[in-house]
Amino acid sequence: MALERTLVLVKPDGVQRRLVGEIVGRLEKRGLRLVGLKMLQVTKELSRQHYAEHVSKPFYPMLEEFITSGPVVALVAEGPEAITVVRGMMGPTNGRQAAPGTIRGDFGLSRQMNLIHGSDGPDAAKKEIGVYFKAEELLDYDSPLGGTVCAGDEK
Ligand code: UDP
Ligand code: MG
Repeated sequence: MALERTLVLVKPDGVQRRLVGEIVGRLEKRGLRLVGLKMLQVTKELSRQHYAEHVSKPFYPMLEEFITSGPVVALVAEGPEAITVVRGMMGPTNGRQAAPGTIRGDFGLSRQMNLIHGSDGPDAAKKEIGVYFKAEELLDYDSPLGGTVCAGDEK
């Protein structure tokens, strides 16, 4: 069982729709630990770094316009298998195909304006955390309640 960190964004649609608390609250209530959190404006350059794998795709210009259209909330969440756990909570890319109970399935019906980004694997998480956060912005703090979230052999 791997204790993982994953990069999450509440995208501009989530901020505009006042869903930051709802989305971050779901991650916290699941038991994930926040180790970094901030609000920022994504620039075109940052978008190209984050979405490097998509830059040459036909949808990229519209994605860039969307992700730079207003502030996002960026956070790093930590927990056992956090990458997979968050991807499951998000639901699939297209909100119309996302099941109720997922963030995308409960709050949206768009393929682009789908509220949340979460890293899709360990390599992406490492890269994306580095794109959005400096090492000193990630806080390692005592977390006594962590013992109520999962057993010692699960992390
Ligand atoms: N996207 C889009 N049109 C598409 C596919 C993706 O606008 O046809 C956007 C959407 O906001 C998505 C992001 O590009 O979340 C990254 O795409 P990816 O396939 O990596 O989806 P995700 O990992 O976010 O589910
Ligand atoms: Mg992706």
